[in-house]
Amino acid sequence: MKEYSLTDISLLMEKCGVDDPMQDYIRECVSFHTFPAAGLLIAAFMVDLALEKMGARPGEKLYAVSETPKCAPDALQVIVHATLGNHRLRIVETGRFAITINRYSEGVRAEGIRVFIDGGKVKQYPTLWLWYTNDPAFKGSVSGEKLLEEILCAGRGILAWEKVRVRFSAKKKWASRICPSCGEMAPAEGFENGVCRGCGRMAYYDKAPTEVP
Ligand SMILES: [Zn+2]
Repeated sequence: MKEYSLTDISLLMEKCGVDDPMQDYIRECVSFHTFPAAGLLIAAFMVDLALEKMGARPGEKLYAVSETPKCAPDALQVIVHATLGNHRLRIVETGRFAITINRYSEGVRAEGIRVFIDGGKVKQYPTLWLWYTNDPAFKGSVSGEKLLEEILCAGRGILAWEKVRVRFSAKKKWASRICPSCGEMAPAEGFENGVCRGCGRMAYYDKAPTEVP
């Protein structure tokens, strides 16, 4: 199955009548993500819709939640500049394909806009429906032409939005502690059985022999 290039995507966007600012968003997202995944394109439309409903200015400092770790975080990182690194992007794995954007708030609630997929509207797009429902009959790739064309032509047509109050917890103070196992510094509250999580439950590597040149 052929993977779509940026040029192919531009042609499809023209065919579907995607407006210029949205085209720019999508091209930036695809470059960052390295390929035009279905979820990425949908998320780009979601972010655009949320920004419009918020009346957000370009470059405004915003916070975001992605309800999936797949694709959608990249649209938020590229378009909103709410990143995992700057701590303005949270991933709350609800299993739904949805995003929320909000402004900064002093309290533990912030007014925001949540955008999600309206399943009823997806039904009119046969390939997209198979992908959306993870139907075993879906044979294409996440970058198949028919799927991408349906997404680009649907645009906001498969989305719905709502006003929400985003909950978050206030920042906690933390103390650091040296782990007796690895000798590295880590937050004390994360220690388990006297060692840091990296030496415990969250260990993700084994030491490899160091080659001497
Ligand atoms: Zn350790």
